[in-house]
Amino acid sequence: MGEWQTVIGLEAHAELATASKMFSSCPVVDSVEAEPNSAVDPLSLGMPGTLPVINMQALEYGIMVGLALNCRIPPINQFARKNYFYPDLPKGYQISQYDRPLAIDGFINIEPEDGLTKRIRVRRAHLEEDTGKLTHIMGESLVDYNRAGVPLLEIVSEPDISSSAEAEAYARKLRSILRYLGVNSGDMSKGVLRFEANVSVKHADDAELRERTEIKNLNSIRNMGRAIDYEVKRQIKLYKQGDSVKPATLGWDESAQKISVQRYKERADEYRYFPEPDLPIVTVSRAWVEHIAAELPALPDQLQARFVHELGLSSYDAAVLTAERSVANYFEAVVAAGIEAKTAANWLSTDLFRLMNANEFEREAIDSIPIPAASFAGLLQLVESGVINQSTARKTVLPEMWQSGADAQAIVDRKDLAQISDPDMIGGIVDKVLGANADMVGRWLAGNDKVINAIFGRIMGEMRGKGDPAIVRRILQERLNKRKE
Ligand code: ADP
Ligand code: MG
Repeated sequence: MGEWQTVIGLEAHAELATASKMFSSCPVVDSVEAEPNSAVDPLSLGMPGTLPVINMQALEYGIMVGLALNCRIPPINQFARKNYFYPDLPKGYQISQYDRPLAIDGFINIEPEDGLTKRIRVRRAHLEEDTGKLTHIMGESLVDYNRAGVPLLEIVSEPDISSSAEAEAYARKLRSILRYLGVNSGDMSKGVLRFEANVSVKHADDAELRERTEIKNLNSIRNMGRAIDYEVKRQIKLYKQGDSVKPATLGWDESAQKISVQRYKERADEYRYFPEPDLPIVTVSRAWVEHIAAELPALPDQLQARFVHELGLSSYDAAVLTAERSVANYFEAVVAAGIEAKTAANWLSTDLFRLMNANEFEREAIDSIPIPAASFAGLLQLVESGVINQSTARKTVLPEMWQSGADAQAIVDRKDLAQISDPDMIGGIVDKVLGANADMVGRWLAGNDKVINAIFGRIMGEMRGKGDPAIVRRILQERLNKRKE
């Protein structure tokens, strides 16, 4: 794009996985599974005369996230009313936070390239209540208030993100952190975690940022990237033809893969924010913050650094293996069983992930695959000790382990897959294959070096893939060299 740079700030809305809602004891239910309007109470419905009470668990989860995002937690935060009318908001206002958010001035590290860290600043994270959910169907609108009042943490980045790939990396990292903390499942298809992308473009000569648009309706991280690319192109085109970009809220239309204008944007003063009179100012003691900080679990960045420094993995491999806590645990179990870290990392992130993809298992579901970590380590031990070769392990034993749930050794015994390393036996087969393929040998003698790979393939085929590749290659080379003399 040359003279145009992309500028992105992301807003994330994360529901906090508490048992009850933000300001009442009404239970929080699964937004897809539960019967609509089965988890409502007078407060969720905005009945006059009800009074909110702060959910301390939500406050604690919010502080955990703030700390995990390297934020400061000010000693005081305050709820505020954000006034607007919408059918999913029965009170006519949303309780949110405005000028005194729960957490400020943090950052998230992303890795745009292997080994290169970029810090994306987090401006603030504040608590609020979720709205109800509208469904527009056959010309009618249905409203479900189960979600109304569910604790929501809004996390706002600075406009430090410079490409759709960086935006995706930021979103994946934030999702990973929330899952490590156990405060949010990260399930975007259920709307438990939602992203909005603020997008503008900047000309090389600009001193200040230009007008931005805000894209909503992003139901996956991948779609967010696509929507950003689309919007960046649209804005550049407008500027190039001498038009301007109007601040607007845009919707990503998933099926059409394009953007449509939902509404032109309100300004903050149109919401008439004012301090929530029904709730006290919240004081957060230093002792409480320190206690929460001390109890935080290891986070992806820390685990990644440990895998790099203690186990010698590349930064990229370590990032892949630590994105999900359960994958990191699986990997550590394989290493604890005696497999060299680099070997374990390679087999996991290529062969095992490929098998998981083919069987439609998400990475986070690694605990429920048919191959437990100990069995996987068992397979790698057989390769390591030369009982089977890599390709037998990869092509035959591993898929069979997935199918049958059996151990590698049992499969090797049952299917007679043990590697053949006996030089005499291999020599005999090499001679036989060379004899049967005189044309190939002729081409090799005439200077076609590459044909040796085809001959090697024939020999391995003859041995049902069980030959020790290094020994087969050595003997083949020796036999061919002899013919040259
Ligand atoms: P508002 O208060 O209207 O929501 P903010 O200034 O707080 O606006 O910004 C909201 C989000 O938009 C933040 O994530 C911020 O990083 C991002 N943002 C602000 N200005 C720009 C811009 N010119 N281009 C892209 N993103 C921007
Ligand atoms: Mg906003």
